Parts: sequence; structure tokens; C-alpha cells
Amino acid sequence: MTAAALIATALDRFGPKAVVTDQSDIEPWLTDWRGRWHGATPAMLQPASTAEVAALVSLAAQHRVALVPQGGNSGMVGGATPPADGSALLISLRRMNAIRSLSPATAVAEAGVILETLHDAAATIQRRFTLTLGARGSATIGGLVSTNAGGTQVLRFGTMRSLVAGVEAVLPDGSIHDGLSGLKKDNRGYSIDQLLIGAEGTLGIITAAALRLSPALTDRAVAWAAVGDPQAALDLLRRLEAQTGRIEGFEIVPRETLELVLAHIPGTRAPLAGTHAWHLLIEATSTSPGEEPATALLERLLAAPLADGLIDDATISANEAQARAFWHLRDSISEAERGLGPALQHDISVPVDAMPRFMVEAAAAVERAFPGSHASGFGHLGDGNVHFHVRPPAVEKAGWIATHGTAASALVHDLVVAAGGSISAEHGIGQMKKDELARLGPSSRLHALHAIKAAFDPLGIMNPGKLVD
Ligand code: FAD
Repeated sequence: MTAAALIATALDRFGPKAVVTDQSDIEPWLTDWRGRWHGATPAMLQPASTAEVAALVSLAAQHRVALVPQGGNSGMVGGATPPADGSALLISLRRMNAIRSLSPATAVAEAGVILETLHDAAATIQRRFTLTLGARGSATIGGLVSTNAGGTQVLRFGTMRSLVAGVEAVLPDGSIHDGLSGLKKDNRGYSIDQLLIGAEGTLGIITAAALRLSPALTDRAVAWAAVGDPQAALDLLRRLEAQTGRIEGFEIVPRETLELVLAHIPGTRAPLAGTHAWHLLIEATSTSPGEEPATALLERLLAAPLADGLIDDATISANEAQARAFWHLRDSISEAERGLGPALQHDISVPVDAMPRFMVEAAAAVERAFPGSHASGFGHLGDGNVHFHVRPPAVEKAGWIATHGTAASALVHDLVVAAGGSISAEHGIGQMKKDELARLGPSSRLHALHAIKAAFDPLGIMNPGKLVD
């Protein structure tokens, strides 16, 4: 049977809500967030329940039709974009958007629940789901689990992997893996849940996840500080960490990236007067009214580094609106970069202590090898993860990427590997980095990835062409 026959059968069984064939309805979901990949598909499946997902996957397995799972389509590596030849069907989980249960310890959310909706739901019971990121208004639980998303609070709470207590998923043969029981201890061999986290839809379709909740914040304050270089930034973080366990966010932003945000995002303003080479966003939080207020904590902890010159300047949010405004600057970087036009993006990690040196030396190496280009990193310095972007020379934008993009990215990735790092820190591999993963290995990892893929999905119907084939 062909895809056409599968669509007819599915339409017959589940109706037009579950099987969208009108291309004008499908079109918005065929291009990735950065506008880099464009796909095609004869239909977008939109199951409303785990049973419907299972039935659709069984049909796909029976008829050898490939499926591309999709949530909010905010991914950065083309993982949710179907192939351009129209050979696969999109399967959107957005209709599965129920929060099945909410308790102080755990929320069980279906795959299509939007992150911000979960934040709001947890707040109603004075709890918090701690993972957050700029795309929280569109990214879904299924996508966040499948990419093992990071975001801005990893420093204290870890990535999605440490926040998921269990996963429910439909495996490529149509069977249902139910890991939602919330067992604290379960040593029946390999963890299927953990294999599915970060699998980018290549091992199955996540339908729901049990997610760990934390106490709601009673107070927070955000400082915006300026330092001379990334090493000073990391030295500051180490000093703060030695004195408190209440630092949640620690983000680094180079001058030109802040200027880009100020130029492209309406209503933004620079937190500090004057020009500074590197900016830091530092968030301190509190979950107990008895604790020293977060503003006082930051004032106290930043006084000495300001006095001894580790920090050039700093300001602390006077209220929640200002705290939000500081975060808005940080969260708008991807949006602002989109306004500037194409650039080469590298979501990379190296050991935390090696990151300051890497940022400086890799930028210099890239700019030396590709005269006129501009390289810099921003983001989660405290996690050893920055988004290292290379912008083309101002005069030759798009043509430059076509001519030099592959070589420039290969240079960045070679430098990352030489520094003992990873070419994907939090965005995944998708179709963007598949070739680079294959090139850079190591072979032990590649062998294991291929073996796991073959064991779960021998027919190769789950998100083909992504991560590993
Ligand atoms: P999609 O983009 O729809 O899909 C992503 C991948 O997951 C694809 O491979 C897809 O096939 C697979 N998938 C989706 N749903 C399922 C499912 N139910 N079952 C199986 N596979 C599935 N990411 C970070 O980690 N940290 C950040 O700080 C961060 N900041 C961002 C800021 C902005 C402005 C934007 C636009 C993106 C940012 N991202 C960040 C990337 C993105 O938000 C995450 O990758 C997010 O996890 C994607 O969720 P989604 O629902 O949009 O997934």
C-alpha cells in the first residue's frame, strides 16, 4: 500500500480532523523556524489520543510509510521538517494537549502541551516546571523531551533528561511503551525512557511525559553586569557559586549581539550605560520567604567583584517588570539574528572551564581563516554551552554561506572536538548536523547509535534522514 492508501484508510477510521490533506493547512508546518529547510508531504496526521497514534504508526509500519513527528516546530536543526520529496507523512502531536494530572511532585502532560501552558498550570498549585527557553510559547513537551532541551536554568536543574520522571510513547511497530508509572526504582535493564529522551523522533513517538515539579519561586532578582572577557565571567560565576546555591541563570552576551537585539527588537533598551565588551545576565532566586531577598543577595555578592574590578559595571532589577525586561533581551537573541539574515549557527559545548579560552581562540581562528567574517558565542556559559555564530562579511551575505559555510562550520566543529566538546549541546542533530556527526564520530558512539536505531526501527519509518539513518 502507498501513502495515498494509508491516508484513505486513516481518513476513513479517524476523520478529517486527524488527517489533514489541505495543503494550505499543512504549508505553515513544512518549513523550520529559521526558514532553512522546506519539506513536502501529502498529509499531516493529527491524532488526538495515544490509541490513535498507535493505530496510525501500526498502519505506517504495515505499509512502510515514513512518519515525521512534529510538536511546535521551533527546533533549530530541521528535525521536524519532512523530506522535500514528499515521501513521508507529518504526524503532529499538537492536538494531544491535555495535562492529565498535576500533583506537587509531578505533572503528566501530553506531548502537545506547550511549555508555557505547563508553567501556568504548575503555578496554580504553587509549583514550578523549571525548564524554560525563548520558544516557551510554542515548544511542546514532546519536542522538548525528544530534543532533550536545555534552556536557561540548566545550571541548577539540568536538562530535560533530569526533569523527566517517565515517558509514554508509541514505538515504531505500533506498540505502546508506558513509562508513566512513576517508579522511583526500576532496573529491568536498559531505560527505554532515557533512550527516547533526545532521540529526535527517530525511535518512536512520545505521547506523554511525567515531569518533575519544584517549589514555586517566592522571589527572584536579575542582575545585568559587564565584564572584560569570558574568563572574567566564569571567574565571577565560580565566586558566586562558592557563596550561594541560589544562582539559577548565568548567561553571557557579547556586545555586538546585545546591539543586534537593541536594533531589531522593538521596545528594548540597554541595561547599562556606556559600551562594554561582554554582558552577563545573572538570576538569583528564592523558594522560601525566610531567605535573604534575592535583590539583597545579588547586591551583597556583586559588591566585592565590582570593587576589585572583576566586574566593570552592574545593575540589579528593581522589580519583576525589569527582571522580565532583562530576560527579554536574552530570549530575543534568536529572533534578532533572524532579522539580520543568514548566519552559521553552532550549538556547541566544551568542558566548562575550557569555554572562556575556546570562545576567544575559536573566534580568532575562524576570523583568520575566513577574512571579513565575524565569530562570537553567547548563551549558557555556566553549562559550557554557547551558541557560536559566524556571520558572513557584511557585503556578501548569502553567497558567502553557499561558498564558505561548510568549511567554516567544519572548522568550528574541528576546534570543538579538539577541545573535548560536543557539536550538539542542546539542539540535537536533526538534518543539520547529520553529516558532521558521521564525520566526527567517534566510531564507538556512531556504532551504538546505528545499532539502537536498527533495533527499534528496523523498517526505518521513524523520522528518516535525521540524526542517523
Ligand atoms: P519540534 O521543533 O516540532 O521538533 C523537534 C524534534 O523533536 C524533531 O526531531 C521532531 O521530529 C521531534 N519531535 C517533536 N515532537 C515529538 C514527539 N511527540 N515524539 C517524538 N519526536 C518528536 N532549545 C534549547 O534546548 N535551549 C534553548 O535555550 C532554546 N532556545 C530557543 C529559542 C528560540 C527563540 C527558538 C525558536 C528555539 C529555541 N530552542 C532551544 C529550540 C527548540 O525550542 C527546542 O528544540 C524544543 O525542544 C523544540 O520543541 P518543539 O515542540 O518545537 O519540537
